[in-house]
Amino acid sequence: MSPTRRDFLKISTVGGAAAALFGFDLKLAYAQLRTLKIARANETRSTCPYCSVSCGVIIYTIGDRAKNVTAQVVHVEGDPDHPINRGTLCPKGASLEQDILNERRLTKPQVRRPGGTDWEEISWDDALNEIAAKMKKTRDETFIEVDANGNRVNRLESIAWTGGCTDTNEFNYLIVKTMRSLGVVHLENQARV
Ligand code: SF4
Repeated sequence: MSPTRRDFLKISTVGGAAAALFGFDLKLAYAQLRTLKIARANETRSTCPYCSVSCGVIIYTIGDRAKNVTAQVVHVEGDPDHPINRGTLCPKGASLEQDILNERRLTKPQVRRPGGTDWEEISWDDALNEIAAKMKKTRDETFIEVDANGNRVNRLESIAWTGGCTDTNEFNYLIVKTMRSLGVVHLENQARV
């Protein structure tokens, strides 16, 4: 007979009680298990991509530096040294590993053409070239040099920029400089990092 979930909980409770009774400290065993899991992993510090709180995370991978091996994420947890979250993550951030290791995750740019109903994959080079060409065309056609009262404004209202929550201060500094140089006035960023 296979044990039910209730049986399993009973066994676990009895096992825990027995361990306490005979003086075993299970905390050490659990800590050792966790250490083994990430013992040979590399740590990469990053930012949770979900919301503007921008909590710090540590992503553990194995195989990053081995020849002919594809790196594999094995664990993600809150960064205890990060000033925003100090190691904590909400349930969404705590499930980040499932977002990284997900067969539905998009890893290539896609485009849906005007009037189209399907998304098609394109290369990064084609995506960047198309974006650049469309931005130039839009700017050339819609740049406003003077407003209705004759004041020189030199602004571009037909393009907006929005940034993601993992964009750093340094990245945002460059974006603001670039967008302002084009005349873009509508720009915002979710990140506060
Ligand atoms: S862990 Fe939660 S609160 Fe923190 S950035 Fe991610 S989604 Fe936002």
